Amino acid sequence: MNVADSERVSSALEHLGYNFTPVIEEADVVVLNTCVVRQSAEEKAYGRLTTLWPTKRDRPEMVINLMGCLVGIKDNPKLHKRFPYVDVFSAPSDPGPLVEYLIKHHGHSIDAAETVRRYAVMDGDLVLPQPAAGQQVIGWIPVVYGCSHACTYCIIPYRRGIERSRPPEEILKEAHALAAQGIKEVTLLGQIVDRYGLDNPAYPTLAKLMNQISEIDGIERIRFLTSHPNWMNDELLDCVAENPKVMPHIEIPNQAGDDTVLEAMKRGYTADQYRKLVQKIRARIPGVSIATDIIVGFPTETEADFQETVDFAKNIDWKIGFVARYSERPGTAAARLYPDDISDQEKKRRWDILDQIINKDNMAVRPFVITSV
Ligand code: SF4
Repeated sequence: MNVADSERVSSALEHLGYNFTPVIEEADVVVLNTCVVRQSAEEKAYGRLTTLWPTKRDRPEMVINLMGCLVGIKDNPKLHKRFPYVDVFSAPSDPGPLVEYLIKHHGHSIDAAETVRRYAVMDGDLVLPQPAAGQQVIGWIPVVYGCSHACTYCIIPYRRGIERSRPPEEILKEAHALAAQGIKEVTLLGQIVDRYGLDNPAYPTLAKLMNQISEIDGIERIRFLTSHPNWMNDELLDCVAENPKVMPHIEIPNQAGDDTVLEAMKRGYTADQYRKLVQKIRARIPGVSIATDIIVGFPTETEADFQETVDFAKNIDWKIGFVARYSERPGTAAARLYPDDISDQEKKRRWDILDQIINKDNMAVRPFVITSV
C-alpha cells in the first residue's frame, strides 16, 4: 500500500514538472512516506526525520513532506512541535496537501496546477499513475483505504482510518491509464480487499470490479490482496475460478492456529473455520496457491497454543507463509491488555520452527519472507 501511495505522490510531482532524484542534497522536495506498523519502524522514521534537519538548516527552501501512518488521519500538534522544520504533513494515501503547498509556494503554471488539482485533489484521491518506467509491467491500485476491523495487535485502523472504498469509476479510469502505459498486471489493494464496495451500496463488489477491469485491453493479469477469512465469499471464489485474467492466488492470513490466541487477537474466526475455508477454496479453484501471515509469540500464546499452530500449519500446506515475531505496538489494544512477556529468544525459536514447516519447499521465495517489519 505504501509503495502504491508513493507512486501516486511521485506521479503528482511529475505532473508538476519535478523529476526523481535519490540524492537528498539535490532535492527541492523530500517526501518521507512512513510505515509505523511496528514501533521500531516508527523509531526509524523519527531517526530519518532527525537526519534531514542539517540539510534543511543549510537549504531552508527545500520542502520536507512527512506522509503516511506516522502522521495518521488526524492533525497531530505534537508532531508539528517536535519537527517544526517539516513543511507539509499528509495523511496516508493523500498527496493533496503537498500538491497544494507546491502550487502555492513554487509558482507552477496554471495548466500544471489545474491538471494535478483535477486529478490529485479535486476528484478525491485520484492521481493518474506515472508513466511506466522502462520495463515496468506491474501496477498497484488501492481500492479500499483504511480498515474498520479491530485486530488487537494492529495500529492500522488508528492511523489509516475507517474503511473507505474508492469510487469504481476512479479505479477503472486508473486501470485504463495504466494499461495505456504498458502495464500488464494490476494488483488491487486493501487492508481487507474482499470488503471492497460493502461500505457503499452503489458500488460493485470486488468480484464485479475485477470482471470490469478484466475487459480492459492490455490488462492481462489481475491480483488482489489482502483477504480476510470472514469476507471471502462464493462470488469472489467463482470470479477467481472462472475469469482467466484473475490469478489463482489468495493471500489469506490466519495469524494463529489456536483458538485462544485467535480470540485474544480478535480476528473473528476459529482455526476450524479457517481450515474449512481453505478446503472450500481448493475445491472451487483447482491448483490455487494460498498464502498466509502468522504471528508467533503473541503475549497470550503458551507453548501448548504454539503447538496447536504448528499442527495446524503442518496440515494446511500453504504455498508461502509470512511469519512475524510479535512486537508490542503502543496504542493498540494488545499493548494495553497483555504484557509482552515472551522473550525474544523464545519468539525466535518459534519463528524458526514455523518458518521451516511452512516455507521448507519455498527456498526460491525465501528472500521475500518478512521476518520483521
Ligand atoms: S484486518 Fe486486522 S490486521 Fe488487517 S489491517 Fe485491519 S485491523 Fe489490521
